[in-house]
Amino acid sequence: MRPRQPNRTPAREKSPATILPEFFATAPGGPGLSGEIDGFGTGADGIVDGPAIFRGQRCGVACALLSQETMAIDPSPSITDFDRQQMAQLAAWTARQLGTTRQTPFCADVVETGTGRLVLRRLNAVAAEWDPSSHAEVRVLRATCKKLKTLSLKGHTLYTTCEPCPMCMSMALWSAVDRVVFGATIKDASRHCRQIYVPAKTVAKRSDMTCVVLGPVERVACVALFEDERMQAMMKTWRHAKPKAAPKS
Ligand SMILES: [Zn+2]
Repeated sequence: MRPRQPNRTPAREKSPATILPEFFATAPGGPGLSGEIDGFGTGADGIVDGPAIFRGQRCGVACALLSQETMAIDPSPSITDFDRQQMAQLAAWTARQLGTTRQTPFCADVVETGTGRLVLRRLNAVAAEWDPSSHAEVRVLRATCKKLKTLSLKGHTLYTTCEPCPMCMSMALWSAVDRVVFGATIKDASRHCRQIYVPAKTVAKRSDMTCVVLGPVERVACVALFEDERMQAMMKTWRHAKPKAAPKS
């Protein structure tokens, strides 16, 4: 069943892709949202709850963006304006984390497909949790199922800064999200850290489950997360750091 679409089309002078970087750069009280981020979520768990992200004085612009009726998603199997806006916002937020101890290019959201409401956001926490499976997508899907006390996330879309690896795409299928929208591709990521070269769309096709996989979306912004010099320095310490001469298959 198609979710109800809004009748009104509120005017918007700037896209979130334009507004949010400006918002982060000019927000009063310090550099971006790092205070709020440290203030919740927290610790190794790194829980980031959608509405809470924008709590407090600095939330005006982002809250307004999230609550606009135009944020309702067209559930069709194609990339929508909302997808681009959500990915731009996710990439901008993840970029803010590069200046914290939680720096990673990998971050994922679970969003209600019909309303555009952000349910949860999680960063990759492999190192923080000493868990090779603590990829952002796995973490956010697990946390959302627990939060909603359900084994099916039908009616939800997974947004992720990087194309899901086979493990994460499998998790997306097992959790029954409707759609997966990603930013950078596995090939993009492979220039910086080791990857498993199975496209997410291939994983979906080889299953008997239904999930639309869309991407790349906001690829430039998401690739920039990997190319940030702080991230480059961090990745050199990773076990999965890319060797100088990558083995050819
Ligand atoms: Zn993964």
